[in-house]
Amino acid sequence: METLFKRFACEDALPRLHQFIDEELSVLELDAMRDHLDGCDNCAHEHEVRTKLKSVVRRACRDVAPLSLRSKVAARLVELRRAFPEGA
Ligand SMILES: [Zn+2]
Repeated sequence: METLFKRFACEDALPRLHQFIDEELSVLELDAMRDHLDGCDNCAHEHEVRTKLKSVVRRACRDVAPLSLRSKVAARLVELRRAFPEGA
């Protein structure tokens, strides 16, 4: 079958995994990623691991910090903003 996308090697696919998971690639890159993951166990495994990790992180981030902690973080941010006005 004729393909429009350039076939990816692992060194093309791996740096794009993060964007692939976040669906931030162009249509051609998405096709090339799917094609590569279909045929490459290593990258498919890496994709699975990162997808799981992302869902774990997302679940963990859903827990809301207690108000006392949020107040402390907010106060510290104000201090830091004063200390580093340029955001440096
Ligand atoms: Zn690969």
